[in-house]
Amino acid sequence: EAKRAGKGRVCFFSEDLVTQAWEQVRISKKLRSALINEEELFLFFQPIVELKTGRAVSRETLVRWNNPLRGWVSPAEFIPIAEQSDLIELLDDFVLEKACLAALSWQDGARVAVNISARHLGRNTLVPKVAFILRKTSLPPDRLEIEVTETAELHLLDRVMEDLHALRRMGVHITLDDFGTGFSSLSQIRFFPFGKIKIDSSFVRDAMERPECAAVIGAIASIGQRLGLRVVAEGVETQAQHDLVTAEGCSEGQGYFYGAPSADGRYGAPCLSGGLD
Ligand code: C2E
Ligand code: MG
Ligand code: MG
Ligand code: MG
Repeated sequence: EAKRAGKGRVCFFSEDLVTQAWEQVRISKKLRSALINEEELFLFFQPIVELKTGRAVSRETLVRWNNPLRGWVSPAEFIPIAEQSDLIELLDDFVLEKACLAALSWQDGARVAVNISARHLGRNTLVPKVAFILRKTSLPPDRLEIEVTETAELHLLDRVMEDLHALRRMGVHITLDDFGTGFSSLSQIRFFPFGKIKIDSSFVRDAMERPECAAVIGAIASIGQRLGLRVVAEGVETQAQHDLVTAEGCSEGQGYFYGAPSADGRYGAPCLSGGLD
């Protein structure tokens, strides 16, 4: 009986894997044509505010895919698929250029933050592309911020570090995203040209109930301060969370409390994409 059940499960599992593989092929085909035709992909912007003044100092670019068959697809779903091929480069380039153009129209001079996959960074194609896009759009390098998520790749590849230093020399700002979720090697931070670290939203989410999460936020904020880094709290949704991250010493905040990602980042109004997260 147990044996049969076990067998059944294995069979179901492998079938599921095949379905999953097909689904991934389908998604990457659709994504490629969306990128080539510059259709269906939309940029949303979310304000990142200085806690002291409430001013939006930058806006993060978040890509959304509106597929006619599937509706709004979250980047959490299609980016891992894009990362398995050259699609991630096409996507990041598309987003970079559109984001730089958008930032040019912002009256307040806020920076634009763009997420770049660590997989992409390791390929040595990003630096010349960023230089090209900055020239083409005429956005001052100082107004561009590149966010890289903390992953093992980041630490293992010398090329990633070289590229980040080259970007920094160009005048572009570098931010460490989702800090606390990945490799979290504080000793490594000093080798990278980061100007900012973003504390992952999971810490903020749990901080009210779990004092140790609040303690981690405070510890990261004070290390950041001593290293001369800006520290952003991600995923701030309530007044209480805002008060907490402010008290713990963070310099900036991001989250629905300040504004959801919106098609027009100037106002950070709630938008269609709210249901994705
Ligand atoms: P991320 O860079 O950490 O972006 C923050 C995520 O948190 C976004 O999810 C945002 O919509 C969501 N968020 C913002 N405020 C709140 C809040 O108050 N509460 C909660 N629960 N969530 C909040 P999103 O847009 O689904 O993006 C997911 C991830 O996909 C991003 O995480 C980023 O790593 C990646 N991503 C998004 N756009 C791009 C892109 O253009 N290129 C690349 N390579 N990656 C991207
Ligand atoms: Mg980010
Ligand atoms: Mg993040
Ligand atoms: Mg994240």
